[in-house]
Amino acid sequence: MDLLNTLVDKGLRRELPTREEALAVLATSDDELLDVVAAAGKVRRQWFGRRVKLNYLVNLKSGLCPEDCSYCSQRLGSKAGILKYTWLKPDQASEAAAAGLAGGAKRVCLVASGRGPTDRDVDRVSDTIKAIKDQNEGVEVCACLGLLSDGQAERLREAGADAYNHNLNTSESTYGDITTTHTYADRVDTVQKAHAAGLSACSGLIAGMGESDEDLVDVVYSLRALDPDSVPVNFLIPVEGTPLAKEWNLTPQRCLRILAMVRFVCPDVEVRIAGGREVHLRTMQPLALNLANSIFLGDYLTTEGQAGKADLEMIADAGFEVEGTGQVTLPEHRVTAGGGCGSHAEAGCGSHADAGCGSHEGGGCGPCGSAAEEQAPAAARVPETARVSEARTDLVAVRRRGAGTDLAPNA
Ligand code: SF4
Repeated sequence: MDLLNTLVDKGLRRELPTREEALAVLATSDDELLDVVAAAGKVRRQWFGRRVKLNYLVNLKSGLCPEDCSYCSQRLGSKAGILKYTWLKPDQASEAAAAGLAGGAKRVCLVASGRGPTDRDVDRVSDTIKAIKDQNEGVEVCACLGLLSDGQAERLREAGADAYNHNLNTSESTYGDITTTHTYADRVDTVQKAHAAGLSACSGLIAGMGESDEDLVDVVYSLRALDPDSVPVNFLIPVEGTPLAKEWNLTPQRCLRILAMVRFVCPDVEVRIAGGREVHLRTMQPLALNLANSIFLGDYLTTEGQAGKADLEMIADAGFEVEGTGQVTLPEHRVTAGGGCGSHAEAGCGSHADAGCGSHEGGGCGPCGSAAEEQAPAAARVPETARVSEARTDLVAVRRRGAGTDLAPNA
């Protein structure tokens, strides 16, 4: 396909595709899908080889959030039967992190529910970062604490944080349908604060919330403009008791097209499959490793992932290798430039969702699984090709182990 040849050429040159090209990736047929994966895989291998970076989530504070993000199981008014607990102590968080690091993770993502941290919360997290770094040489620590106030990013950086996650989640035009207690501009501001403080910015999206193809392309282009080093892609876990519990809009094929589109638009950025990997990609997870260079090991924030051992076996069976602490994740030009999507100023890439850090959802501050029942999902926007999935509630399990429990974590 001319389209795919063009996209590979642009990806290898770190050149921004046109919006029409990005939309065309999402509109490809099932007959074309393996060609799409192969093409985006060439771009992935150019910048990240066959390495897979493992990240490990530690939910420092679960549930009881005053915000109303409709995807989030920790939201105000959530009826989801998730674990609810207040701040873990530094030694408890460090113990949970150690399990993930022993399992092969090189980055620990410290996530807390809430609108944003108080200065006292920043003190607590700073103590936790120091405890983890004292005991684990070479570990990367990412904080995901919600909206930041002036000076907080600098304090986290001084405490040793390497990165900060805050997801944009969805397009600016649909943001008000998903959340009413804060704005898209608030989220952009926090990503920019993290960047300005010298933290590696991590910002991504949640797919499957009733958005259109245009919305998906919009948010990915906005992320590129923010120029984060890593982009977590969450696939909505429709958790019972949240407003989006009936939003089963994703198939494995659509997830692969979305990941390929993100790879083409953000070619040299750490693209991470976050929450919903097991629920929506299912047996197609190994194929997705040709697109993303990063996943979460084990469980998500409020839901359970597949066994950490199964993650490791999948990576090895698919012919990939776990990235070690001695290996640098990002391509050299991004490391020396201090970050960036590789497209320079005109464009660039970057939520709490149960899928990955940044949106407070099942994996990190990404989709938490909440918003008001009266906020009808934008079902009319969902492309017909995306509306053929069945509800796989059998694959959604609320986390009952690890942080905040007496049971061993999944790592
Ligand atoms: S995503 Fe974060 S801010 Fe939004 S409801 Fe969930 S925990 Fe609160």
